[in-house]
Order: sequence, then C-alpha cells, then structure tokens
Amino acid sequence: MRLKGKTAIVTGAGRGIGRAIAIGYAHEGARVVVNYSRSRDGAEETVRTIQAAGGEAFALEADVSRLQDHDHLISRAMEEFGAIDILVNNAGIEINEPVLESKPETWEATVDVNLKGAYFLACGVARVMARLGGGKIVNISSIHDVEPLRNRAVYSITKGGMLMMVKSLALELAGHNIHVNGISPGAILTDMNRKHLTEPARRDGLLARIPMKRIGDPEDIVGAAVFLASAESNYVTGTTIYVDGGLLLF
Ligand code: NAD
Repeated sequence: MRLKGKTAIVTGAGRGIGRAIAIGYAHEGARVVVNYSRSRDGAEETVRTIQAAGGEAFALEADVSRLQDHDHLISRAMEEFGAIDILVNNAGIEINEPVLESKPETWEATVDVNLKGAYFLACGVARVMARLGGGKIVNISSIHDVEPLRNRAVYSITKGGMLMMVKSLALELAGHNIHVNGISPGAILTDMNRKHLTEPARRDGLLARIPMKRIGDPEDIVGAAVFLASAESNYVTGTTIYVDGGLLLF
C-alpha cells in the first residue's frame, strides 16, 4: 500500500477521473475526502465503494470556484482526518463555444473552476502542508495544455495556464517539501465527453489518431496519480505526465 496513513482531498470526485483517483488512492491505503459540487449521489456512491473495500472516506460538498468554500473544505478535512498530505485538483469544466461566438460568461465560468479555483485551493492546502512538513499536489490538466482544441479555446487556455501553475508552485513550494505535478489526460471516456466520443464518425476519427488504438478509461489515469502522490515520486516536481495513449505523438 503506497499511500498508507496519508490523507487526500480529490476535487470533483463524484464521477469520472476524480472518482477513479479517489477509489485508487483508497485502495493504496489513503483516507479520502471525496469533494463534489453537484454530483452528490455520485460522491456518496464513491464513498460507499471505498468503505465496502475496507477504506476510509467521506463526501464533502464545496464548489471550488467559490473561494469562500475552500476554508470549509480544508477545515473539514483537518477535523476528520487531522492532516492533508495530498491534494488532487481534478474538478474541471469545458464549454463548447466557437471563438467568434465567445462570451465573457464562458471565460469567467471556466477560469473560475479550472484555474482560479485550482490555484487558490492549492495555495490554501499548501499553507497547511507547509505547517505539517510537506505534501503532494497533483493537478489534472489535459493534452490541450499544449495542443489547442477546436471550439474549446477557453478550456485550452485554462489548461495551458495549469501547466505554468504546476511549474510556478513547484518552484516556490519545494523548500517546504511540497511536490507539485500535473497529469494531462488524452481522450478518456467520461460524462464530460460521452456524447461526443461515442458518436461513430468522431470516435473513428479519434481512434485513427491514437497510437494505442483505444479511448482511455478513468482508471487509466490512476497509476500516474498514485505515483505522483506517493514516495516513489519524491524527486519529481514541476513536471506533467501525459497519459494519452500516444495521442500527442500524432
Ligand atoms: P467529469 O465532468 O465527469 O467530472 C468533472 C467533475 O468535476 C464533475 O463531478 C463535476 O461536478 C466536478 N466539478 C465541476 N465544477 C466543479 C466545482 N466548481 N467544484 C467542485 N467540483 C466541480 O469530467 P472528467 O472527464 O472526469 O474530468 C476530470 C478532469 O479531467 C477535468 O479537469 C478535465 O478537464 C480533465 N480532463 C478530462 C479529459 C477527458 O477526456 N475526460 C481529458 C483531459 C482532461
């Protein structure tokens, strides 16, 4: 068990990649705060899955885009588990919008969750980690942090920002024994994109560009997430691991 005795917060863990990471962390012995903003049923189901396997977890509502929710998230995690060793900034949204139809509301909503929420939550948790002697922060970005996605300009811009967030935080927090890294998934089948990725023409077009010849599952992200949260990555900081079946090679 590579995370035994550790406590993790995973944001947006009611479904998709966050859910898979929460379950994967618990499987490695971590106690998990399963954060959600809307997916309450999913978060409770994630907790039940963890508990049924003998793990410890609880569901906690907090909207990461609301900075006033961060104190509650951090203080409840501390009350319940007494430490925060790992933060996974997983919560994210993407809005389909051509550049020529761009609306300020799309910018604000996307930046508030994907960048501002992730950044200030990392800062708040890092203060706790610094006091406790260190920790691991893992940001879930996207291959679109380096490759633009048509009709998702704002999403791609926020993920590009996350790439620099990882490096900037890693540089300043290394002195506090806090490691900050990212994971950039390729095409992973989740509720975020199920309609898009299961449409036959799109799916076939995408598969033709993936050297590993399959669309990923949320569980494909867990190995990198465990590595970056565990002592195995103690000399790794400021980097981003691309988990994309080779999509970026194309
Ligand atoms: P998803 O939509 O299934 O899950 C995202 C979760 O985040 C949802 O449960 C949602 O309710 C939650 N969330 C959204 N806004 C929130 C907020 N303000 N506060 C708290 N939680 C909030 O999507 P997913 O595919 O599992 O995506 C997870 C992360 O992975 C995202 O950051 C996404 O950008 C990234 N990603 C996904 C893919 C993919 O192909 N699925 C590819 C690259 C990157």
